[in-house]
Amino acid sequence: MNKVKCLIIGSGPAGYTAAIYASRANLQPVLIEGPQLGGQLTTTTEVENFPGYPDGVEPFRMMDDMKRQAERFGTKYVSGIVTKVDFSVSPKKVWVEDTEEYEADAVIIATGASAKYLGIESERTYKGRGVSACATCDGFFYRKKTVAVVGGGDTACEEANYLAGLCEKVYMIVRKPYLRASEIMQQRVLNNPKIEVLFEHNTVQLTGEGKVQGADLVYRKGEPDEAMKHIAIDGFFLAIGHHPNTELFKDFIARDAEGYIITEGHSTQCYQMVNGKCTNGKLDGVFAAGDCADPHYRQAIVAAGSGAKAAIEADKYIKSL
Ligand code: NDP
Repeated sequence: MNKVKCLIIGSGPAGYTAAIYASRANLQPVLIEGPQLGGQLTTTTEVENFPGYPDGVEPFRMMDDMKRQAERFGTKYVSGIVTKVDFSVSPKKVWVEDTEEYEADAVIIATGASAKYLGIESERTYKGRGVSACATCDGFFYRKKTVAVVGGGDTACEEANYLAGLCEKVYMIVRKPYLRASEIMQQRVLNNPKIEVLFEHNTVQLTGEGKVQGADLVYRKGEPDEAMKHIAIDGFFLAIGHHPNTELFKDFIARDAEGYIITEGHSTQCYQMVNGKCTNGKLDGVFAAGDCADPHYRQAIVAAGSGAKAAIEADKYIKSL
């Protein structure tokens, strides 16, 4: 069994920033890196919107910079996946790969969220080569080009509008005969001359030589008027939702209907669950930062900011013990 003051779960911008602050506060944090070292950001090709990198930065390099910065102040890293937690006791208990047990005065959850993908083979083939799940991150690389956005919710509409400001043309691939998004978002999409909505279409496969150059779609699959359609595109953006990586904590901390961790006001303080119900009581010593608690912004810089907040709050809590 390992006893630590501050345990951080997750190695994205929230986790590493929490580690920088916690280690500079002399909390000697241990950070469990999880299944995707560097987090979601590493699925993108280049980061141009994180302050401090005027020429942009390759995501692995940026995450490595953060990692080394926290290491410099004493953060220890454990590679592995957290498989079980017990937050009903103090100190909190966390198991890595079921075997290695940690006891921590404070735990910072920074497990992020994962974009949903369609699950077709060619999505994997072209990941980072035309396939993206973040228009704000990658849209800039498609200036004056043609792209497609999949989904009919608010995210898809927002992304299609954003991309229409940069691109020559934007297709929206919507599986239903209507958009699910709020009325105002629908109107923006439908009134934008650069956006063409392809209702009742599903993506069969992406095509291209080494990068996305087109998509094969099917219209009204299984219906008498079923038809195939090919569109020429340079980028394919998924906007069919995200799921926060919070399943593991569901018995102990309050989450919203989508699974995002609910925190107190503007803080990162988690709420307690007792017998499957949110008690409105704080769960002392447990904090959540980054996309696992943020259904709105999903930006590295916002996640980093909340990581700093979590570490400051963890420090205050530990000093109160
Ligand atoms: P949603 O779950 O609202 O929408 C997902 C969309 O993707 C739906 O149109 C859905 O189709 C489609 N979809 C899901 N799976 C597939 C699939 N396998 N193939 C094709 N299409 C698929 O997710 P969002 O991310 O858009 O929104 C999440 C929440 O965040 C919502 O509550 C939304 O209102 C909110 N939000 C608010 C914003 C704002 O207010 N500015 C901005 C962004 C999000 P179908 O309709 O057929 O199920």
